[in-house]
Amino acid sequence: MKTLIFPWAMSALLVAWPAAAHDKHDHHGNSQRHNAHEHGIARLNLVMHDDTLMLELQSPAANIVGFEHAPQTAEQKQQLAQAQQQLALLPTLLKSPHRCQLHHADVRTPGMSPQPDDHHHHGDSSTAEGHGEFHADYVLSCEAIELLTFNLMAMFPAIQQLEVQWITDKHQGYQRLTPAQPQLRFTR
Ligand SMILES: [Zn+2]
Repeated sequence: MKTLIFPWAMSALLVAWPAAAHDKHDHHGNSQRHNAHEHGIARLNLVMHDDTLMLELQSPAANIVGFEHAPQTAEQKQQLAQAQQQLALLPTLLKSPHRCQLHHADVRTPGMSPQPDDHHHHGDSSTAEGHGEFHADYVLSCEAIELLTFNLMAMFPAIQQLEVQWITDKHQGYQRLTPAQPQLRFTR
């Protein structure tokens, strides 16, 4: 039952985060644990168990669509819908997904719906007030990989840093990826 390790491993990661996390979200008046909403930065938790990869992406919506509120024009509605569709695709996530298959993708946009506080009911309480976000979960299987090249920063140039916290059955680590260096190397 590969999926059963997911909540446990994610909890372990989230507990590990504060050490590596930025502390610049204080100006939002919110001290919640994993609430580092910083424009230009996206964060990714990665758990690998056997050949199964579980990824959890969090990004300020400013990085993805350039606004962080409910869409107000037809153009913004289209932008939001398009970004949600794009983020659910493997080539958006990875540059060379040759050895990976995407089994599941779930993209949510807390803080971006017309009802100002509906995200409080969906477990997305990490959203900073008035700052919409994109949260995406992925389940992949990848054969014998030791590195992943991410495409997110090429797709969404406003993402200047991708902070990756990863854990495998035996190792764990942290890496800060940039548009110039989008490769994550990990030890299984
Ligand atoms: Zn923001």
